Amino acid sequence: MGSDITRDFIGKEARFGARNYQPVPVVVDHARDCLVWDVEGREYIDMMGAYSAVSHGHLHPRIVAAAQRQLQRVAVTSRAYHGTTLGPFLEKLCTMAGFERALPMNTGAEAVETAIKCARRWGHRVKGIADGQAEILVARQNFHGRTSTIIGFSSEPDYRAGFGPFAPGFRHFDFGDIASVKAASNANTCAVLVEPIQGEAGVVLPPPGFFAELRDWCTRNDILLIDDEVQAGLGRTGKLFAFEHEGIRPDALILGKALGGGLLPVSAFLADALVMDVFNPGSHGSTFGGNALAAAVALEALLVLEDEDLVARSAEMGNHLIRRLRAVQAMAPELIRDVRGRGLWVGVDIDPGQASARELVERMARAGVLSKETHETVIRFAPPLTITTGLIDRAVDVFGAIVQAKSRAKAARPTPLADAALEPA
Ligand SMILES: *Cc1c(COP(=O)(O)O)cnc(C)c1O
Repeated sequence: MGSDITRDFIGKEARFGARNYQPVPVVVDHARDCLVWDVEGREYIDMMGAYSAVSHGHLHPRIVAAAQRQLQRVAVTSRAYHGTTLGPFLEKLCTMAGFERALPMNTGAEAVETAIKCARRWGHRVKGIADGQAEILVARQNFHGRTSTIIGFSSEPDYRAGFGPFAPGFRHFDFGDIASVKAASNANTCAVLVEPIQGEAGVVLPPPGFFAELRDWCTRNDILLIDDEVQAGLGRTGKLFAFEHEGIRPDALILGKALGGGLLPVSAFLADALVMDVFNPGSHGSTFGGNALAAAVALEALLVLEDEDLVARSAEMGNHLIRRLRAVQAMAPELIRDVRGRGLWVGVDIDPGQASARELVERMARAGVLSKETHETVIRFAPPLTITTGLIDRAVDVFGAIVQAKSRAKAARPTPLADAALEPA
């Protein structure tokens, strides 16, 4: 970081790009599995995994080969025609997830939009809610993507400010609080849309029993339970799907990120026929959704997940990662408020009075470990599911050394006054 070549690339993005991101100052040149190299040739351990989009590791050879094979045949035809890869992909996806039908899209947000349209039409046509009156319950602190409808029901000011007017038809409840779900619902409620673990909110786990109660409440009131596993699904939490931790089955499931095998945007909305069949020709679609190349890649991504036992690996490596991070916490309990997560999805909660998560993330990057902060106080670790104990240990050692240095510096400078006195004049 800091040489001319690095500064040139960063400068060009800043000069010609919209300023809607604040990337860690690392210019990635190439990557393989869990390792990343920057343009200066420095090596990094990828503990971020592109927000779970790279669960299979970078450029998994089998998934790359599947893409290359398909690139010799056909990539995009639109859904105006049939193809040889979409059917097999959908069959595999439905079998693994236990749903009758799947609707392929590209990004997670599009699959969430698909879920919203499906839930509303189901509410109007099957449940019998008056047309245009269907309401969907969503959790406070949710993250479901960035379209104008979706950010309209976000509770995060940064995502919303200035982007209204917002679509009506959404009501909030408190994540983990069944009483607040009941208070928010009424006869026009068609669905509850919820993440099984709130990722962007800082890897927030539900209290035990919440999802079982929610499942029961939805069933008794003819409300669809729609589970957004765009980030949590496909092994991230140590189960194939996070709803398995809760012992429930949702009425519909949203997948994305890792479904693209780390190569392409591929997402899907899954449900049984009774729900999905509210869509008829002309009611929904996407030019690129389910294209031949994406379907070939996503099918291979699902096969690799099974063949390499990546779900069990996530559980095992996740336990190791959490154990190691808790040991770091024990060394600096004043700085680290909490270490929480499931599988290879862990949030480390930093006391903002002690250190900024962003500063720790940037220090880690300088020492060869990629992570990312969320909401200023939480550092997220979500490496590819192919990570090894050796790489986890190397990454946590780096994190531990940075935390210890910060903690010692704090101890040596106990008050802001002393802090100021130590600044060079
Ligand atoms: C990332 C994410 C989305 C949005 O996915 P995009 O591909 O960025 O549109 C939706 N829901 C959840 C839970 C996510 O983590």
